[in-house]
Amino acid sequence: METGKIISFIREVFNEPEGFIPLHAPFFGGNEKKYVLDTIESTYVSSVGAYVNKFEEEICAITGAKFAIATVNGTTALHLALKAVGVSYGEEVITQPLTFVATANAIVHAGAIPVFVDVDIDTLGLSPDALQAFLQKNATLNADGVCINKSTGRRISACLPMHTFGFPVRIAEIAAICKEYHIPLVEDAAESLGSYYHGKHTGMYGDIAAISFNGNKTVTSGGGGVVITNDEKLGKWAKHISTTAKIPHQWEFMHDEVGYNYRMPNLNAALAVAQLEQLPYILENKRQLADLYSDFFENSNIRFVQKREDTIPNFWLNTIIFEDKQQQQQFLEMSNQNKVMTRPIWTLMNRLPMYKDCQRDELRNAVWLEERVVNIPSSVRVG
Ligand SMILES: *Cc1c(COP(=O)(O)O)cnc(C)c1O
Repeated sequence: METGKIISFIREVFNEPEGFIPLHAPFFGGNEKKYVLDTIESTYVSSVGAYVNKFEEEICAITGAKFAIATVNGTTALHLALKAVGVSYGEEVITQPLTFVATANAIVHAGAIPVFVDVDIDTLGLSPDALQAFLQKNATLNADGVCINKSTGRRISACLPMHTFGFPVRIAEIAAICKEYHIPLVEDAAESLGSYYHGKHTGMYGDIAAISFNGNKTVTSGGGGVVITNDEKLGKWAKHISTTAKIPHQWEFMHDEVGYNYRMPNLNAALAVAQLEQLPYILENKRQLADLYSDFFENSNIRFVQKREDTIPNFWLNTIIFEDKQQQQQFLEMSNQNKVMTRPIWTLMNRLPMYKDCQRDELRNAVWLEERVVNIPSSVRVG
């Protein structure tokens, strides 16, 4: 398919004949200004306030989680989630190489070392088959039932799959494998608010999960994140450690471990609450756009990434797959030159200087996707 034809189609669906079309712009169509102003007028702009509580309640209602802990961003939410399941210094966390760098960074922030296992072509996320094969080859349970990587001697203390662009990974299969090997499961659901796998919200298959509310995500709090879990012990610990591990008291400053200042300010939570009110509309709008793209690319040489059976993706970023790297590069060049913002999928984590020596499998699918995948404009369409 000719690049010019694709660019014309994108301009047509966004009703933007000439100007710049971003990849994903935030959409503020409701009570955003009202709620943010409200925090200023009340003086409660910082880390305690009614909007923070409201935000956490809403997240529980949307995801079905029993506990939600609002944080300053998605990376800190991931950091807390990993620490909550016990990830510690010198241990290993299995993740996918095809992800945003924050996934791997959070592992290192927790003191651990990432291990990269391949993805599936159709989900763009961690492959249960590759995970099983990696563990069969490399893992063993020691006398205490702890999973050890035979080739390094280190404990494998978590598995961290990511739901790429809001497309759910085969999370039930991954959860079963983790259970067999006694590996805690943490979901990086940063991109997948509003995505469901077998009727359950993403993030609800693991022991604990993190969602991001950064400005480029489906809905935003400016900067923000949330930890979700059904486990009371993990949920309470995450909240405690995110608020400097302070023992509640009317005036005394007593802290019982090294905590973090990771709580989401009320100012940001106000924006988030207004955004969540519109989540059903935003998701519906984005799914309609995905349908238009899907029809357009049908029967062409470009593959539009579809929803798989028994999943409901949020279609955060619409995704196309070219036949080869040359076509991918040509399209990126021409679309961006023509002010239609498009982006390749991330450089694989194992190619970044700080992660180049991490253990990995052959990563065949990840390399294949890296050379072909492009995200196309996916904002909410207005008017
Ligand atoms: C956005 C994102 C994060 C981090 O979220 P921030 O809010 O930007 O810190 C983590 N993982 C993935 C996969 C993301 O896309």
